[in-house]
Amino acid sequence: MKAMNPLFPNGLILINVSFREGNSPDHHQNITYNQLLRNVCRCANALKLLGVKKGDRVAIYLPMIPELVYTMLACARIGAVHSIVFAGFSSESLCERIVDAQCNILVTADGVYRGDKLINLKKIASEALERCKERYVPVCSGKNLNRANTPWDESCDIWWDDLMDGVSDECEPEWMDSEDPLFILYTSGSTGKPKGVLHTVTGYMLYTSLTFKYVFDYHHDDVYWCTADIGWITGHSYITYGPLANGATSVLFEGVPVYPHVGRLWEIIEKYRVSKFYTAPTAIRLLMKYGREPLYDLSSLRVLGTVGEPINLEAWLWYYDVVGQQRCPVIDTFWQTETGGHVLTPLPAATPLKPGSATCPFFGVQPAILNEHGEELEGEAEGYLVFRKPWPGIMRGVYGNQERFESTYFRKFPGFYVTGDGCRRDQDGYYWITGRIDDMLNVSGHLLSTAEVEAALTEHPSVAEAAVVSRPHAVKGECLYCFVTLKDHKEFNRTLMEELKRKGQREKIGPIATPDFIQNAPGLPKTRSGKIMRRVLRQIARNEKDLGDLSTLADPKVVEVLFSQRCEAAA
Ligand code: AMP
Repeated sequence: MKAMNPLFPNGLILINVSFREGNSPDHHQNITYNQLLRNVCRCANALKLLGVKKGDRVAIYLPMIPELVYTMLACARIGAVHSIVFAGFSSESLCERIVDAQCNILVTADGVYRGDKLINLKKIASEALERCKERYVPVCSGKNLNRANTPWDESCDIWWDDLMDGVSDECEPEWMDSEDPLFILYTSGSTGKPKGVLHTVTGYMLYTSLTFKYVFDYHHDDVYWCTADIGWITGHSYITYGPLANGATSVLFEGVPVYPHVGRLWEIIEKYRVSKFYTAPTAIRLLMKYGREPLYDLSSLRVLGTVGEPINLEAWLWYYDVVGQQRCPVIDTFWQTETGGHVLTPLPAATPLKPGSATCPFFGVQPAILNEHGEELEGEAEGYLVFRKPWPGIMRGVYGNQERFESTYFRKFPGFYVTGDGCRRDQDGYYWITGRIDDMLNVSGHLLSTAEVEAALTEHPSVAEAAVVSRPHAVKGECLYCFVTLKDHKEFNRTLMEELKRKGQREKIGPIATPDFIQNAPGLPKTRSGKIMRRVLRQIARNEKDLGDLSTLADPKVVEVLFSQRCEAAA
């Protein structure tokens, strides 16, 4: 089946407006669908001038500015495959993703202010390209901040404005097959190397468009706002593709929830009369600490969405009572980068809610719960959450690695898609996500693999071995508790801790992977076959004294030592 690249195929001019809200409240702009179309076409023509063709991969490392949306849609318009890298990732992470996807061009900006913190994106982008010299990657950079001291290499760098100058604002869309790739988005893998999740044109668009419409009960007079970053799947599906395919009026927010003051999100809801609001439990928990003073007018709100991690009861009730003033259903949407869109979710006013439960499957989705042996459990049960049949938005592959696609998602339980999450079904058939059951951590709604963080820590010359587990955190949900064993004669001190925090994490992966706790571990609890018993480390991190059966440990004394030296305070 042939399908047109689903971007305003008739040059459709809609009068709806998107609101762009900058990092500073004084910086705002309205963007009509007509302006969006013209900017997308201009960018599409510019990419073509740079030699980008259908099927080429384009890396995008941009903050939450309209150019990010223009560039991703420009790729879609000419059939190029975008690979957006969250603009908080390090140069090494960016390089790894550029190389893996074999990108032909990188689009970035000179910099961005996140709150009052300046991030020199172009500097990080240039460092990334230094690291992956084997590829010649031209860089197109926008002057977001208009900074004079941006690192510049005449041989491959091009200013965005120079490139857009004089290009036509009309561009015929490329005809695509429905199963042609639309984008790659990297997500953490339990072996440490990120996976390039591949989504295709029609199934993904259909699914994000449909879920957006029904899950947010979207109507034409709504103003919709999702606070996620487009660098993650939530921003792809529910800032760009889903809302735009519905012609929705939405808000694109560049800033952070507590800048310049803790009422920023409520101020924006009041300013634009937002009716459908979508955020993450970590943001709710952060804002709960401050209350809602001074009172903003939130009477425009109709539906409140949440995504990213299980929402705890206290946060759910605060969201419902204080933000929604008990008028607005809280829609707890469970889904993944891999699922493309919501798979377990209530529908506003139609599904009776239970705080903390993502409730029931979306139309056509067939969840099941399996035990360790792959046997399907009926009725009330707890086990592995899997899905029986595909739905339009399911990922189509791991870019360049079909074997990994099969082994990660389909081999453990043949015939099912394996989510990697644990789940409980109650007597009413409602689903309750209990958290990851693979070696993954969910920090502020973002997945990290323990292997990835461990690999970063062991790169430090003083570290012999590292093991990372999660510990509950009041705002982030989970945080990183790291055990490090040093090489002989190396000293565990403040400087080393700082180096591990800075070098290992900020430089290798990105700030979300900064360890909260670092414990010196003269030895790690291992089985006789040499496997680290992470369960025991998790219990030490959480101060759970009842450790259960330790008989398989090679040296049980290690546990006592680790317990006696466990960290009470964050590093
Ligand atoms: P990502 O692919 O980065 O979006 O992360 C997907 C993971 O986030 C899922 O596998 C879950 O572990 C977690 N997650 C996302 N949404 C929810 C939710 N509503 N409730 C519980 N966990 C969630």
